[in-house]
Amino acid sequence: MARTLFHKVWDLHTVRALPNGQTQLFIGLHMIHEVTTPQAFDMLRARGWTVRFPERTIATVDHIVPTRDQRRPFLDVMAEDMLAALERNCRDAGITLLDLSSGAQGIVHVIGPEMGLTQPGMTIACGDSHTSTHGAFGAVALGIGTSQVRDVLASQCLALDPLKVRRIRITGQLARGVYAKDVILEIIRRLGVNGGAGYAYEYGGDTVERMTMDERMTICNMSIEGGARVGYVNPDQVTFDYLRGRRFAPEGDAFDRACAWWSSMASDPDASYDSDVIIAADAIRPTVTWGINPGQSVYVDERLPGPASGDSGSIAEALAFMGFSAGDAITGTRIDVAFVGSCTNARLSDLREAARVVRGRRVAPHVKALVVPGSQAVRAAAEREGLDRVFTDAGFEWRGAGCSMCLAMNPDKLEGREICASSSNRNFKGRQGSPSGRTLLMSPAMVAAAAVSGHIVDVRELTDVH
Ligand code: SF4
Repeated sequence: MARTLFHKVWDLHTVRALPNGQTQLFIGLHMIHEVTTPQAFDMLRARGWTVRFPERTIATVDHIVPTRDQRRPFLDVMAEDMLAALERNCRDAGITLLDLSSGAQGIVHVIGPEMGLTQPGMTIACGDSHTSTHGAFGAVALGIGTSQVRDVLASQCLALDPLKVRRIRITGQLARGVYAKDVILEIIRRLGVNGGAGYAYEYGGDTVERMTMDERMTICNMSIEGGARVGYVNPDQVTFDYLRGRRFAPEGDAFDRACAWWSSMASDPDASYDSDVIIAADAIRPTVTWGINPGQSVYVDERLPGPASGDSGSIAEALAFMGFSAGDAITGTRIDVAFVGSCTNARLSDLREAARVVRGRRVAPHVKALVVPGSQAVRAAAEREGLDRVFTDAGFEWRGAGCSMCLAMNPDKLEGREICASSSNRNFKGRQGSPSGRTLLMSPAMVAAAAVSGHIVDVRELTDVH
C-alpha cells in the first residue's frame, strides 16, 4: 500500500503498540544540550538507571552560552553550573560533547545537519521545540520535554500519539527578496498557529523541490509555530548532495547504498493524505510579524489588521502589547535592535544574504545590530569569505555561536520596550529577555535592511537582493 514518508519512518521505528493507544517509538538519534538535561540526568540517577545508548546521543552547548566573551568560568554562575553539569553527565555516561573548545559547537539544530548526523529515514529527538528542523532531510524529528529526555536517555524510546499527515505544496517562483522565511510565515499565517495540531506537515511542490537544504531547514524549523508536531521534506538529490562528505555521513559504496534506501523512504507518489494544501509562491511578499505569535504577520507593504477583521481578542491584545494601532503601516516602524541569528536563520547562506544587503552601508546610529552565527563552523566559513568584515565595517557586532537573543537565556537580551527586527522564530511576549520587549520576525535580509535603515523597510527597495 502506498505510504507517506511519515508512516514509513513511524512503522519502521515502532517497538510496540501501547495499551493506551500510543506507540512506543525507537529514537535513532538523541541530541541534548545544557538546558533540558540536568533534571533528566538527576531523575535517571535517582532511579539507578543509566543511559541506554550513549553512542546514539550527542551533546552540545547553545542556549546559555554567552556570545561575546566565552571564557570559562562564565560570569553567570547559573550558566556555568548548567554547562558544568552537562560536562559531568556526558563524561559519566560516555556521551560525546561538542563543547566550546571542539570547533564543532553550535545551536543543536545547526550542528546536527552540518555534521551529517541528521539523515533521511531517521527518528530524532531533542529537548527543544525546533527539532522539527531536522525534518528537512526526511527525518521524523520531535521536540520533547525534560521528562521525555529522561525517557529517551533511559530507553532510547518515546511513547507518542500517532499523527495525521498534511501535505503542503508550494508551487511557482518566489519573487525577488522573498525567502524561505517568508514562505513559512505565509503558511503559518494562512493555516494558523494551531492549524497543525495533531499533524505532521509534509512540505513539497516545485518551489520546495528547488530549495537548498538551508532553505528547507528554515521551513521545517518553524513547523512547530504552526502547531504541527513535526515537519519534513522528502529526501532527494539535493539532500544527498548536501550529505555527501559530511563527518558522520556514510562513505564510498555505503553512501550509494544509503542514497538508494533514503530514496525508498520518500512518500510514494500515490500516497494519500489527511489534508492537502496548495499555496502559490509567486503571490508571497516579504513578510513581517506585527503581533505576539508568528501567525500575526503582514506583507511589508500591508497595513495592520483591526479587531474587526479576525479574532478580536487576540488582535486587540497584540496591538496593545506592541503599541500599534489597526491600520498602521509596518513599514517605517522604528527599531532599536537588529538580530541575525537562531536555528531558523543563522546558517552560512543566511549570513550571505544579510551581508549582500549590508555591504557598503552603515547600521543606523540608534540601532544595536548583532550577527550570531549558528555554529562555530558557520562562523569560520563566514570569516573565510570575509563576511565578518562586511558586518563589522557596517557597525554590526560579530559574535560567537549560540542561541543568543532567540530566547535570551544568556546576556543577549532586549531592554525595556525595545523593538527588535529578528530572524528568529518566536515573537511571544518576553521571548527576547525583556517582559515588555517587542519582536518583529522576518528574513535575515529584511533584518539587515531594517538595521541599515533604522526602521522596517521593504528589502526589495535596496539593491543587491536576489
Ligand atoms: S535558537 Fe532558539 S529555537 Fe533554536 S535551539 Fe536555540 S533557543 Fe531553541
